[in-house]
Amino acid sequence: CGITGYVGGREGSVRLVLDNLKRLEYRGYDSAGVAVVAPNSPTVTVLKKAGKLSNLMNSLGDLGASSGAAIAHTRWATHGRPNDGNAHPHTDCSGRIALIHNGIIENYLDLKEQLLAEGHTFSSDTDTEVLVHLVEERLKTSNGSLEAALRSALASVTGAYSICVVSEMEPDVIYAAKTASPLIIGLGEGENFLASDIPAVMEYTRRVLVLEDGDFVKITPDQVTITTLEGELLQRDVFAVTWDV
Ligand code: GLU
Repeated sequence: CGITGYVGGREGSVRLVLDNLKRLEYRGYDSAGVAVVAPNSPTVTVLKKAGKLSNLMNSLGDLGASSGAAIAHTRWATHGRPNDGNAHPHTDCSGRIALIHNGIIENYLDLKEQLLAEGHTFSSDTDTEVLVHLVEERLKTSNGSLEAALRSALASVTGAYSICVVSEMEPDVIYAAKTASPLIIGLGEGENFLASDIPAVMEYTRRVLVLEDGDFVKITPDQVTITTLEGELLQRDVFAVTWDV
């Protein structure tokens, strides 16, 4: 199970997040997937496959050269069999929001029941998919603000998670959050990185922020903002990585 993400202007961000994900393969996984938001005519594109990361990489086609905000995931199944549909990213009904998750949403069955009653349809058996539909639902009571909807959704879930979200609503942004599951930010110049662990970003940067439980993050190419789930601003010290992999 692993997570990587990238915002910035480099060509081939899909290839980049998958190469970085490869450095987390030691963590073990059964499926892999990627989502990218094309910068010009913002649409979310998702590709995911059960099996080895190489399996996904071999089926990338044109997507391999795509640029824009990108997130990638290796899954270690806890809820739902390891198949293509249960692999992450998961999307909402509109297909505008894509989310990856490591960990477990403990109260997903209760939430799923409510969401089904509210008309949501699900395409996987995972606990994770519930969270992205909950975000979509909360958009209705958040004036359409993705950030507010995500904060509201996270306040309603119990369990362990590190998550990343991209959306065509905000094509140059990755939202992320963590509690009881690791997540770090790699700081670049005009670009920023996310990962479950430091080795994933070391080819690009040695300046790292190690996130703490409860952190909620907004990342753009030029800015990193860390807050509590309630919105209180937090400072995390920049950690300089001096070792090599
Ligand atoms: N609980 C989620 C699932 O089964 C995420 C598992 C993981 O940490 O990769 O899909």
